[in-house]
Amino acid sequence: MILITKPFFPPFDEYEELLKKIWTSGWITNNGPFVLKLEKSLKKYLDVPSLLFVGNGTIALQIAIKTLNLEKEIITTPFSYVATSSSIFWENCTPVFADIDKSTFNIDPKKIEEKITPNTTAILATHVFGNPCDVEVIQKIASENELKVIYDAAHCFGSKYKGESIFKWGDISTASFHATKIFHTVEGGALVSQNPDIIKKASYMRNFGHDGPGKFNGVGINGKNSELHAAMGILNLKYIDEILEKRKEQYFFYANSLKGLDLHFQKVKDQCETNFSYFPVLFDKESLLLKVLEQLKKKDIVPRRYFYPSLNKLGYLNGEAKISEDISSRILCLPLYHDLQIQDQEVIVRTIKNCL
Ligand SMILES: *Cc1c(COP(=O)(O)O)cnc(C)c1O
Repeated sequence: MILITKPFFPPFDEYEELLKKIWTSGWITNNGPFVLKLEKSLKKYLDVPSLLFVGNGTIALQIAIKTLNLEKEIITTPFSYVATSSSIFWENCTPVFADIDKSTFNIDPKKIEEKITPNTTAILATHVFGNPCDVEVIQKIASENELKVIYDAAHCFGSKYKGESIFKWGDISTASFHATKIFHTVEGGALVSQNPDIIKKASYMRNFGHDGPGKFNGVGINGKNSELHAAMGILNLKYIDEILEKRKEQYFFYANSLKGLDLHFQKVKDQCETNFSYFPVLFDKESLLLKVLEQLKKKDIVPRRYFYPSLNKLGYLNGEAKISEDISSRILCLPLYHDLQIQDQEVIVRTIKNCL
């Protein structure tokens, strides 16, 4: 069976070596040597001054919201994974949806401006499928209106804006290292900021507020991650350049094979570089997408409807976002992972062509 993605596994003996070290040291969690090593390597790889390795990408968002003391309304995108808006809601803030741009699938800065009220405290935007948002325009809007900016950069390992790490943008950027993401630590995530005060506050929050065994600095939660997860990350990072390179080849295979058909693709603007970790295809009609899904399923191929439904349709959240609803109903992400075979990609392409 071919699924949308498949986690990369480093060679077992390499992981075993690191496990032996953990068994010997007896240090298995609570900011151990592998967590510190992984954080150091990730800072270097992502070219950022500070980074906190946390339990997952969702807790990174929650800690980000808490660290910035956000309340009331947060303007956000309706086209993302559910965690983007559920984190806002979970932290007792109100997600206010600003619709997306129909070609980049990212939040539309013009729509952000229309949604600003005296209750707005922040903008939380997702770089959808690793495609950088209009970061300069968003920062300008935020500065003019005294709003904070958080980027959900869950998809962005290796994405760049003007040749530089996308993680340099926003008051805080968050990452997910879940097994389905291009770089993973099984479960995991990170909180990134250029501001040392934010990092300091967030690092207390990640560890219950502890400032020593019997001392506390504010309220916190358990956002830590373990030595076993960090070890997985240390090894996967050794292979990430190969993984990214492979993904890029597969991405262009799809792009070239599906060219000239009645299909639409995500637009990546000048100065923006994605990491090619997703291959979204936009069909003309939802019925066509459903037909393709059905035909692929017969061949044991299961892509995913990322993102569906549009988050303004969740039931516990609402708001209007016509473009997001429309794109959500017609978009499909094709399978893409390190050892997906070209023959499999050919079958997928042929099946799509037959349905059109
Ligand atoms: C995966 C993902 C998350 C959640 O990350 P977890 O590590 O699974 O908690 C948040 N936002 C987006 C856009 C994601 O794709």
